[in-house]
Amino acid sequence: MMVVMKNNATEEQVKHVIAKIEEAGGKTHLSEGKYKTLIGAIGDTEQIDREALKGFAGVENVVPISKPYKLVSSEFKSEPTEIKIGDCTIGGNNFTVIAGPCSVETEEQVMATARLVKETGAQIMRGGAFKPRTSPYSFQGLGAEGLKILQTASAETGLPVVTEVLDPRDIDLVAASVDILQIGARNMQNFTLLTEAGATQKPILLKKSFSCTIEELFMAAEYIVKTGNEKVILCERGLRTFEPYTRNTLDLSAVPLIKSLSHLPIIVDPSHATGKRDLIAPLSLASMAVGAHGIMIEVHPSPEEALCDGPQSLTSPQFKELMVQLKPLAKYFGKEGL
Ligand code: PEP
Ligand code: MN
Repeated sequence: MMVVMKNNATEEQVKHVIAKIEEAGGKTHLSEGKYKTLIGAIGDTEQIDREALKGFAGVENVVPISKPYKLVSSEFKSEPTEIKIGDCTIGGNNFTVIAGPCSVETEEQVMATARLVKETGAQIMRGGAFKPRTSPYSFQGLGAEGLKILQTASAETGLPVVTEVLDPRDIDLVAASVDILQIGARNMQNFTLLTEAGATQKPILLKKSFSCTIEELFMAAEYIVKTGNEKVILCERGLRTFEPYTRNTLDLSAVPLIKSLSHLPIIVDPSHATGKRDLIAPLSLASMAVGAHGIMIEVHPSPEEALCDGPQSLTSPQFKELMVQLKPLAKYFGKEGL
């Protein structure tokens, strides 16, 4: 359930409500929004008398949260969550472009891409140092050396960087090296990884598994937010369907649905969703049109030489062209940040 405090509720009154819920065996989560202070009660809340709580000083209302996910739901918090990373804000009315190669291969490759990302006005650089490959014989990423290259690119361009973390044992190193931790589709339900990555209090980019439901995505995000870290960016990256022409099937309906059910920002990754570079531009424009808070795009200086995901990587001129197309559309939709 959620306790909505009156606008003029005092700190004492808030503390009193929290103490009562915790005494009864519940756990609390305080959310002090621009307009309202909300106290979420989760865990064992059976013993809490909702009607009695309504009569407490400073309490405006007590609302049950009907969904199995609590902290990430829009019932819990109706104001959209905005996440500030460097000079850029993800969520709310902003549109954020995250771009870079699938994987970090060489310093030259990353620097050339980072300069392109910066020059075109995209706000965040991506690049995988630890790669979740289907085959154990495929390139697995440069690991710690890759993180150093990403740091060099960030230092030169001022761009924040996102990279995937696969293993809880690497979390401290990755968190010390980059601005956003990515949890990939294959690890969306790795609950230990979610909890430990969340505990760093770093922003987390959580990709939706190609075989999970929206509710399962929310439950995964709940693991992160439960650590006190509300900085979660959700990402739709396609579903496994019977359609072989694309790598996955991009579910754009997930975007407005997720926005109506959760306060967390939702971005779209058309690169992994389609696996085909010719489909990236139209689906990027469509992502903006359906209200996504941003996109994540793979781009490579010479995709035919890429060690991973070349066929879905845009060339530099294609990425420039996409950024040119996105800007007037952002204006049309009243989006900021580009
Ligand atoms: C990626 O973004 O590098 C990636 C591996 O994506 P996904 O987890 O969505 O497959
Ligand atoms: Mn990739």
